[in-house]
Amino acid sequence: MQTETIAIHAGNLTRSVTGDVTQPISLSTTFFRDENGGYPGGHMYSRVSNPNRSALEKVLTALDKGADACAFSSGNTAGMAVFQALLPGSHIIAPDDMYWGFKKQLLSIFKDTLEIDFVDLTDVSNIAAYIKKNTVMIWIETPSNPLLKVTDIAAVAAITKQHGLTLACDSTFASPCFQHPIEHGADLVMHSSTKYIGGHSDVLGGVLITAAHTELWEKIRNIQQIGGAVPSPFDCFLLLRSIKTLPYRMKGHHENGMALALYLENHPEIEAVYYPGLPSHPQHEIAIKQMTGFSGMLSVLVKGDGARAKKVVNTVKLFAQATSLGGVESLIEHRASVEGPDTKTPQNLIRISVGLEHIDDLIQDFEQALS
Ligand SMILES: *Cc1c(COP(=O)(O)O)cnc(C)c1O
Repeated sequence: MQTETIAIHAGNLTRSVTGDVTQPISLSTTFFRDENGGYPGGHMYSRVSNPNRSALEKVLTALDKGADACAFSSGNTAGMAVFQALLPGSHIIAPDDMYWGFKKQLLSIFKDTLEIDFVDLTDVSNIAAYIKKNTVMIWIETPSNPLLKVTDIAAVAAITKQHGLTLACDSTFASPCFQHPIEHGADLVMHSSTKYIGGHSDVLGGVLITAAHTELWEKIRNIQQIGGAVPSPFDCFLLLRSIKTLPYRMKGHHENGMALALYLENHPEIEAVYYPGLPSHPQHEIAIKQMTGFSGMLSVLVKGDGARAKKVVNTVKLFAQATSLGGVESLIEHRASVEGPDTKTPQNLIRISVGLEHIDDLIQDFEQALS
């Protein structure tokens, strides 16, 4: 089946007596046992599994071409489950511009248990020098936040396979529609479902998809079920509902993202545009090899300083000044001030999440803000 068909049908596990065509929300935290102590409905207790979460995990598995999926209460807890599953003393290689929330986790929560090297992974030849005896995982994020750097998944997978390491890929910016890291050799895929998968800026969530039922995956499933950082049935319902239109939303985000990137690239007040779909992007060739669309995320450097960038952010009218991304409404932010004083993000960088409004209105808004 193709992505659009999977998105609509793979999560429909419903076989209720009332004949619902879509999955009802099952709020019950506990489930009947039969006379032999079994669980005829397939569920025991809602933290361990429940009908809405199982349906969500099923459609996510199918969309990302994996063997299984785990849904969590946020993207951060999904990533943290991976780090928690590693043995103390393990070494991991992560991108130098890793999503700052994960970087913070690794440098605070895991600072005494894991060894981390942050490396520029856009140049794959950088990696070998960092592999040590205790290296167990390479974590990549492509495209990356907020510089939209692209990492060659297959090239990194060749290295992880050679050294017996796990390759995990944060694929949030691409969504499960435009990039399937497992097909390029990744072992684990992570998404913040708060972003494109949810798509309406109204539900927090995170997901992991595995390529195979490994020992590491069993540990991750255990952390989900025993740790309990799980999404509620209502959260799962919202995500399942959102996923049905995900492929079409992604087509719109891609179209609008591409058009706005082209417009801004040719604007005299803009110094640079970072968008993997532009031929001028430094890793454009890799992007077209592993992605089938480039979504609506782009960053631009405004000519001038941080104050000028903040002025633009404050002058646009349609773009809401707020963090996060992937919703139907366009968002804009001065990224450096979100990340705080330690950030390496340029002060004149603006990150834009292009929504699904009409592109003419979005361009007109930038026209007035930059004039
Ligand atoms: C938002 C985000 C996360 C974290 O997800 P939350 O749902 O906010 O916890 C991780 N990685 C990327 C690339 C993100 O954009």
